Amino acid sequence: MNMDEMYQALGISKPVLEFGKEIEESLKERFLEIDENAEYNQMKVIKAMQDNRVSETHFEATTGYGYNDAGRDALEGVYASVFHGESALVRPQLISGTHALHIALSSNLRPGDELLSPVGKPYDTLEEVIGIRESVGSLKEYGVSYRQVDLLEDGSFDYEGIEKALNEKTRLVTIQRSKGYQTRPTLSVDRIGELIAFIKKRKPDVICMVDNCYGEFVERREPLDVGADMMVGSLIKNPGGGLAPIGGYIVGRADCIERAAVRLTAPGLGKEVGASLGLNRSFFQGLFMAPTVVASALKGAIFAARLYEKLGFSVVPNGTESRHDIIQAITFGTPEGVIAFCEGIQAAAPVDSYVTPEPWDMPGYDAPVIMAAGAFIQGASIELSADGPIKPPYAVYFQGGLTWYHAKLGILKSLQKLKDAGLADL
Ligand SMILES: *Cc1c(COP(=O)(O)O)cnc(C)c1O
Repeated sequence: MNMDEMYQALGISKPVLEFGKEIEESLKERFLEIDENAEYNQMKVIKAMQDNRVSETHFEATTGYGYNDAGRDALEGVYASVFHGESALVRPQLISGTHALHIALSSNLRPGDELLSPVGKPYDTLEEVIGIRESVGSLKEYGVSYRQVDLLEDGSFDYEGIEKALNEKTRLVTIQRSKGYQTRPTLSVDRIGELIAFIKKRKPDVICMVDNCYGEFVERREPLDVGADMMVGSLIKNPGGGLAPIGGYIVGRADCIERAAVRLTAPGLGKEVGASLGLNRSFFQGLFMAPTVVASALKGAIFAARLYEKLGFSVVPNGTESRHDIIQAITFGTPEGVIAFCEGIQAAAPVDSYVTPEPWDMPGYDAPVIMAAGAFIQGASIELSADGPIKPPYAVYFQGGLTWYHAKLGILKSLQKLKDAGLADL
């Protein structure tokens, strides 16, 4: 079989393949730039592993309380080094990104404090954590109030509004780097730095936390490099490199991390306990792989942007602008478009390629969501995956790809599904 026949065996027709080739041809320079960033970040990770004297003994499992878990401590040292924090909490007991964010917030806020989001509505699952949507156990129930300043129409910060919103109660500012399920632009690390500088100038003692989900290794700098006190993310996204089977991280100022640690375990215990259960090897190796995995995901995102943009769909970011996370939003305008796209991603997967994804009411979300993922790790969105809430504007959020070739196949397959359903004209 030659290459074209190989793609045909996977259900990609000649016109779709040719269209893809044309798009790929136009992206050579962008891909080179992505590879150079990956190279830089790879060096950053290796340097951190060497500086922390990572050794084979760190891959051994601990059980029970997990006292003297040298691997866990070394891993946290590596995360602190890579992301330039004083301390880190990197644990399988942080069961997801939402959990890590909940711990970071609930541990650093006290009754009577106020939480401010100066970048608009946070990620859907945080609405219940904060209490924007009524929820048992929310920060609101514990007497933490919340204020939000939306981005301006053009996506810029509403500095005037932010200045007014800061008050004597404001204790913590949460800044979400990625667009999440919105079509606003993702924030660059530079822009996050400008925002933090503005806030700290007016209120130096406020804690600035960045929800860094999907942002790790996309740029050469990370939020802690531009003044953030804490950054938080999920290990089944970028920094787990597709190998971490669970986990979350919080990196930043030592006092913030200490508060998070005693909240995760118990006052008096903190970081000293928490068995790593034999997961350290995949955490280390995943972090080692992460820069190149993120590069693959970025190539897929840009390929999808260029391709669907050319077909007349609205895409965020567009095919030419710079990238600050791995998410690609494509607005199809109809439920059928979202569903066909997700079916294509599913059909291209190495796992569960034969199942048909359907919209369902996921906990934490306020509309049915369709998700496509044929992943080795359940729900891992660093693996090729797509999801879309079935509500206007009927946009799909697509991300991941452990290899560029798989991401490419998935996107071609999605286009094939749209074309076959008469929803896209080549
Ligand atoms: C994914 C994500 C979260 C939540 O992470 P989960 O691991 O899904 O709980 C929070 N914020 C942003 C921006 C995300 O992308």
